[in-house]
This record gives sequence, structure tokens and C-alpha cells, in this order.
Amino acid sequence: MTSFNLRRLKLRPGEEHRESLEVDLEPFELGGQRYVPVPEQVPAELVVSRATTGTLFSLAFGTRLHGPCYRCLGDAVLDVEVAAREYQASSPEAEELTTPYLINDQLDVSAWARDAVALALPETILCRADCAGLCPECGKNLNEEPHEHAEEHGDPRWEALEALRDRL
Ligand SMILES: [Zn+2]
Ligand SMILES: [Zn+2]
Repeated sequence: MTSFNLRRLKLRPGEEHRESLEVDLEPFELGGQRYVPVPEQVPAELVVSRATTGTLFSLAFGTRLHGPCYRCLGDAVLDVEVAAREYQASSPEAEELTTPYLINDQLDVSAWARDAVALALPETILCRADCAGLCPECGKNLNEEPHEHAEEHGDPRWEALEALRDRL
């Protein structure tokens, strides 16, 4: 886990601190599937800016996730660029003026990075934008073996529709 100790910074209002650090990333769950960051450690840029009323944190990094394609379950690779911000008020009156990643002047960069990646993910991860997926009838991968099944073996619901259309 990567964390950052703020105590040694001693920033005054108006001052900022930039730091390049290596952040450990954990695997992600999305739609019941597991996606693994490769490599597990990424270089990130952390900026801590002190304002009169609080402290602003910015974190930027890129990562590459490997896991199954949502449609065909083949290998999918996704590049994710993250630019996240958190704010901690000096004397917070409301919960939204605090960041959950800051505990006892210790910033949990790994937890923040993990959540930031999760927010940056698309709804589905595909091996390629036009992935044809698996055949709903026989389960074969339609990217490797494009095919159609003859209509006579088609879905009985379609046959019912056809019959209906003939009558109209
Ligand atoms: Zn696919
Ligand atoms: Zn098929």
C-alpha cells in the first residue's frame, strides 16, 4: 500500500508541494470479472496545495488493465488515465469538506488511486470496440469463427413472428 505522510510537509497557505511517487494498485472487480493492473505499480504525480481554508490534493497517473472481454471473454486490455482531486478543510463543518483517504495526516494514496480508477472505467470493457461476442446459439467466439445458423433451426419465437407477419 502506498501512503503519504503530510506531517513532514508543513505547508503554509499559498504553498504547494509536488511529488512523484510509485503507487501500488490492486486488482478491480467489474461486472463480476477481475481486472488486473499491469504493472501493479505505476508512477504518479501528487500535488498538495495549501489554501487558507484547507488542503487540496491532486493525483494523476495512467494504468493498463488486463482482464476478460465483456462480450467474448477473450483477453481485453484497457488504458486508463486518471486525474483525481480531493479536498480537506482545516476545520471541516460538513463531511463533504473532508477526504476519506486522509487519516491522521496520512494520505492513503493506494485506496484513492483504486477508487479513482474505478470511477474512470467504462461500463463495459471490450477486447475491441466492434467485438462480435459469443454466438447466442452455440457459444462459439464470433470473432474467430464468424457464422450464422440456418433459419430453420432458429428461435421458435421468430417463427411465431413470421407466421404472424404472413397473416397481416
Ligand atoms: Zn471480445
Ligand atoms: Zn453459433
